[in-house]
Amino acid sequence: MILLPHVLALLLLAAPVPGDPAPRHALPDGMESAPWDAFWVDQCKERLEAAGMTEGYYFSPHNRLQSRRITRTETIYCHVPQAVVWSRGPTGARYGGFTMVNCAMALAMARFEVIAQEEARKVFGDALEAPITYITHVGTYNCRTLRLKSEKQSQHSFGNGIDITGFYVRGYGAIEIQRHWTARWPALQKGSLFLHNLVARLRAEQVFTNILDPTWDGYHANHLHIDLAPTSDGLPSVALEKAKASPVSASAPPREGAGRAAAAPVEIPFVGPEAWLVREAHGGNPATPPLAPRP
Ligand SMILES: [Zn+2]
Repeated sequence: MILLPHVLALLLLAAPVPGDPAPRHALPDGMESAPWDAFWVDQCKERLEAAGMTEGYYFSPHNRLQSRRITRTETIYCHVPQAVVWSRGPTGARYGGFTMVNCAMALAMARFEVIAQEEARKVFGDALEAPITYITHVGTYNCRTLRLKSEKQSQHSFGNGIDITGFYVRGYGAIEIQRHWTARWPALQKGSLFLHNLVARLRAEQVFTNILDPTWDGYHANHLHIDLAPTSDGLPSVALEKAKASPVSASAPPREGAGRAAAAPVEIPFVGPEAWLVREAHGGNPATPPLAPRP
């Protein structure tokens, strides 16, 4: 069959189709099990599809292992299994900044976004199906320990957390955690109500393991830290189990064991801030978004 040139051009211009997640990463030498194994999702792509994610993301081809010396004798290993680079969620909301999370976290974020839209409609009116057009954050993946407990590895090391700073609601404007969490003026009250309702519902529905808001400590004055840590009070996280068991799209054929073979280890020593990841994922130019904007 001969494809006409304009048909070929149309095919090439079609929205980027997410590929398959990278296979499981081999363990670093001397490690018997990896903390990131807890986040592995079977049939990741099919579950994302069932959650409404057919576009607006891709699986990172730079699915590496990073190591970082935190003291003279201790090294932490960081890795995002099935790394999903996210630019637009299932309701069409766009994400500012570089957003790379593991598959379980991406599934929880899909649920988070649907809930955020519903709560926004309750506060700002239901004239729009999806009033939130933009979600801002100050970080997803970051190979580091907790800020106050230098020996404990942060969930951000596994792409298992996001620090949300605000939302943009069409017809209302920006809602910032910093300004709106505690409404000091009447004009901020609607935004504040939305944030508190959203957090209350995310907690009630156990969408995430931890949601740290500005009442937690001074580090969280300007953002909500949300994560899918594998345990909560020593027990397995209900939120993580729910995310991993989210529905599979009906059209998807079963892919038992797909992507489970370990890839050859690629050891990348930590050489500096995470900027290199952003540069590589964006083809060398951090100012270029990974996907074309939705018209
Ligand atoms: Zn955080």
